[in-house]
Order: sequence, then structure tokens, then C-alpha cells
Amino acid sequence: MSELIDLTAAQAAERIRAGEISANELFEAYRERAAADELNAFTWVAESAPQDAGNGHGVALAGVPVAVKDLFCTEGVPSQSGSKILEGYRPPYTATVVAKLHDAGAPLLGKTNQDEFAMGSSNENSAFGPVLNPWDRGRVPGGSSGGSAAAVAAGLAPWALGTDTGGSIRQPASLCGIVGFKPTYGACSRYGMIAFASSLDQAGPLTRDVTDAALILRHTVGHDRLDSTSLQYPHEIELPMAEDLTGIRLGVPEDLTGAEGGIEPGVRESFDATLKLAERLGASIEPCRLPHAPHALSAYYLIAPAEASANLARFDGVRYGLRVDGDKDLVTMYSSTREAGFGPEVKRRIMLGTYALSSGYYDAYYGTAQKVRTKISEDFTAAFERFDFIVTPTSPCTAFSLGAKTADPLAMYLNDFLAVPMSLAGIPAISIPSGLSDGLPVGFQLAGPAFSESRLLDAAYALERAIGFDGSPARA
Ligand code: GLN
Repeated sequence: MSELIDLTAAQAAERIRAGEISANELFEAYRERAAADELNAFTWVAESAPQDAGNGHGVALAGVPVAVKDLFCTEGVPSQSGSKILEGYRPPYTATVVAKLHDAGAPLLGKTNQDEFAMGSSNENSAFGPVLNPWDRGRVPGGSSGGSAAAVAAGLAPWALGTDTGGSIRQPASLCGIVGFKPTYGACSRYGMIAFASSLDQAGPLTRDVTDAALILRHTVGHDRLDSTSLQYPHEIELPMAEDLTGIRLGVPEDLTGAEGGIEPGVRESFDATLKLAERLGASIEPCRLPHAPHALSAYYLIAPAEASANLARFDGVRYGLRVDGDKDLVTMYSSTREAGFGPEVKRRIMLGTYALSSGYYDAYYGTAQKVRTKISEDFTAAFERFDFIVTPTSPCTAFSLGAKTADPLAMYLNDFLAVPMSLAGIPAISIPSGLSDGLPVGFQLAGPAFSESRLLDAAYALERAIGFDGSPARA
């Protein structure tokens, strides 16, 4: 059994194809582990392998099951986005990316815990309780895709889907010692994803290694007529093969990695060591400027709450999930439902967003934030004229103790200082584990221009092999 759990998804698929193990056996091994989950990583686990998963032959992903973040609507299965307001909601349809994975031969293993409506960096904002980090159960797994990250790191799932609005795939991947990839905005359909901030939300993989991330991307990207912001991906995502980084120019943005970023010494050490390794693999490394990037968090915390306040207006006790009735009028029903159904962070964001969009303030807040967003995007465009990729640590810190930042929203928001600029620019970025600091994983982030997924995967793959990170302690 332990042997099965140590395989990457691609390796497990290989074994199934070779007839050494069956898809059902693999599903059952993971199902048992997921059902016995002590990390609170799952909100729902499948009772059995779906009939149509077959024996895994003749389908690209060979029957290797996938865990998906709670906010992906899945027909007949609880899909609650970590919120009490959607408790018990079972949608009548399935998110496109989940359906695509299913069709490619990756059946649904379970739904994973997350921060409520994907708002958070620690998974402590879930209505279904916090998720524990498998490297140290007194610590957070990161967020908001914390359940997906913890499940993959702990070997409770071969691989998982998460979403990233401002770091929620990359940061938990970093804190849990796995790979996380946020694709180019529009590369994957958002249809069936319970929305947080629609101009930022993207689905993407959380995996054991870079090859697995490439496989999930290959089978999830592409235009979907049900999401008008989704794009025709220009080519097939290739599986990474690069042996080295010859000729690759890496830019290190001083504006993010300087004192303002609050990067912990252990994280910086691992980052510097990875840069040295990259140099030995043939990359050139130079400092670069992204002058507006330090303002990304401020812009994000106007744009994301503004969009969230509009997206979350639909949860009114009429259409979905919870209703707190009382014997008064309709407006009282709306407000008692929202009062009881939303947690404190969601309420904070709705208030921020509503305020920012209110008449007379729109230009001062939302309008200004949009201008900053354009500037950030232009900074990246200029940087990519000189560099192939921009690199930073993924998160300024390693996994912190449960409760350490819950009383201080600003400290919590700073976790995404290095991740949010890429989200605002809509560009792809990957986090790979670069080593340990005091026994906790550190993440290394590479970001590239729109649609550079295959090249990013190649570079990350070469680095991954040179780093040789061992994730097995988290599965023990
Ligand atoms: N931590 C950020 C937030 O709370 C990002 C969340 C996300 O990417 N979904 O908004």
C-alpha cells in the first residue's frame, strides 16, 4: 500500500497501463486514506469508484482519481465553497474542468476543504473547520486551496484541483511542499466554479511533481462556450523534458524581494540556493524592476472584494442553500440568512467591496485600483522583453501556527505579497518546493508571459530534478 501512495499520478497511470495495478485498486487505496483523513482536508469523499471509470485503459489519465476543491460544482455532490450559506447544496451540473478530467479518465475522489469562498491564506476561514498541515499538525496548510494541498502532500489524493485568485494555489502548495500551477487567465474554463473575483479566478493543479501538473493542464485548458472569458489555448501543453536551463534568463524583482516583502531568513536562504542551482544549470540571473508590483496587494484588496460583493449578492436565501426565515418580510429574510450564513472574513470583504463600488467613491477606489492593475501588467510586459521568467519565493514565510494571524487581517493578507502581482497581470506562475527551512517546506515561484505554460513547466522540471526535494515525510 505505502508503495502505491508514493507513486506520482503519472507513475500510477503507467502502472495501470502496464497491468501491474488496477484503476479500482488505486481508487480504493486512496478512498480509504481520504475517508480516514485526520487533517480535515476533505469535506466529502466518494463512496466508491464511479462505474464508468472502467479499468482505466483507453483513457489518457488511466483512472487515477482526483480531489477537487469544494467550490467546483459537481453534479449531485455537496459543493459549498467552504460556506455555511451553501451547506448541503448539491448542484445539478458539473464544472467544465472537473468534467474534462473525468472524461480524460480521472474520476472524482472527493471534495476538499477551503477558505470560505476562497477568501484566505490559511484555510482557517472555512465554515467546516481549519485544515492541518501534514508537515506539522499545529500549523496551517496555507489557503485558500488548503484542503487540496494538504491532501496531495499527505498522500490522501494522487493530485488535486484548486483555484487561484491571488495566490490560493501557489501559496498552499508552497506551505505543503508540493507543486502548484496558476495558469494564464482564461486558459481554463471557470464554468461551474463558485465565483470569488471573476477577473482573477483561475483553476489549476496541485500535484506531487511538475509532470503531474503538466498532465492536468493538458487536459483542462481550452475554450468553453459556457465561459466567454475562456480562450482557445494556442497549442497542446507538452510534458516537460528539459535537462537544464541553458540560455534561460531569470529576473529577480528587487521591488518584491527587497525589505518590503518581509521574506523570512530561512526562505531567503532556500531562494538564494535555488538561484545558484539555476545558474549551474545554465540560467543567467539578473535583478529586474517591477516598480508597481508592491502596490499589487492594495489594488487586489479593492478589486477582489468589489467583484466578490457583486458575485455573492446571489446568496440571498431564495436560490441556494441556507434560508433563515423568521416571520417578517423578505428583506429581513435576506439579511438574517446572510448574517447567519457568511463568516466574518466574507462579511468584511462584502462591506469593503460594496463601499469601494458605491456612488461617489467608484473612481477614487475601484477606478484607481484598475489603473494600478494596468501599470503592474505593463511592468511585467517590459520585464519579459529582457527575461524569460521572473522568479521569487512563493510565500515570504513557511507554514505558520494555527491562530497566529487570525486576529490580524493585514498580516494575513501579506502572505500573498509575492503572488498577487501575477494574478492581477493574468500571467501563469508555478510554485515548486525548493527545500526545507526548520523542517518546513519553502516554495520557489517562476512566472512567465501569457501562454508560456509549456516553457514554464520545462524550466520548473529541470529545477525540480536538480533540487531533488523529498516530500515523503508528509505522507508518513
Ligand atoms: N489569500 C488571498 C485572499 O484571501 C487569495 C485568495 C485566493 O487566491 N483565492 O484573497
